[in-house]
Amino acid sequence: MDGPAFASWIRHAAELVSADAERLTRLDAAIGDGDHGHNLHRGFTAAVAALPDGAPPGKVLVAAGRAIVSKTGGASGPLYGTALRRAGKALGDAAEADAAALGAALKAALDGVQELGQANEGDKTMIDALAPAVAAYEAALADGADLAACVRAASDAADAGAAATVPMQARKGRASYLGPRSVDHLDPGASSTALILRALADVTG
Ligand code: ADP
Ligand code: MG
Ligand code: MG
Repeated sequence: MDGPAFASWIRHAAELVSADAERLTRLDAAIGDGDHGHNLHRGFTAAVAALPDGAPPGKVLVAAGRAIVSKTGGASGPLYGTALRRAGKALGDAAEADAAALGAALKAALDGVQELGQANEGDKTMIDALAPAVAAYEAALADGADLAACVRAASDAADAGAAATVPMQARKGRASYLGPRSVDHLDPGASSTALILRALADVTG
């Protein structure tokens, strides 16, 4: 994947987020404050506007992450911004990312989100989509899968991980204020993480 391919990912993620903004906001209205779709739409619109021309993968992701941190409200802005900035830093100045480099970048994103948000799997957050996605990516890579197949595995695992948040009780973020009333709802951040990884799978084919 070269710089323009990463820029295509961010643009496609922005399209999917904007098409699903209402749904994400409805999910957040049920167990949060009803702004998740709106927050992400703003953030990804800013990320698209900030995409540098002719830059390598790492610079593309760092620029997108910075824009998201500065323009996205709520808990998710700093978390997604950190994820993209950390992924970008992991990619360094290389002109292309191969399957191993992309896997390391996704792992760096996960580590960044966990450092900042202190959530673990089972807390009903975006970690419940991102952590299984990284694990599935690494397993596919170890099996010798190519980049596109690794990304597909990650995206499928993120979908399953997001769906698995429904019976969980939230232990982090606003939804945790609801205690047991957070059960039986899909976590909005896990759902948007699955969407962003679906966008990556779409552009890597
Ligand atoms: P806010 O809750 O501030 O309004 P958003 O609605 O944009 O922010 O995002 C809510 C989502 O952020 C949640 O659904 C959850 O997935 C994620 N989230 C909240 N707190 C954390 C955390 N500490 N670690 C990881 N993800 C978190
Ligand atoms: Mg919210
Ligand atoms: Mg909010």
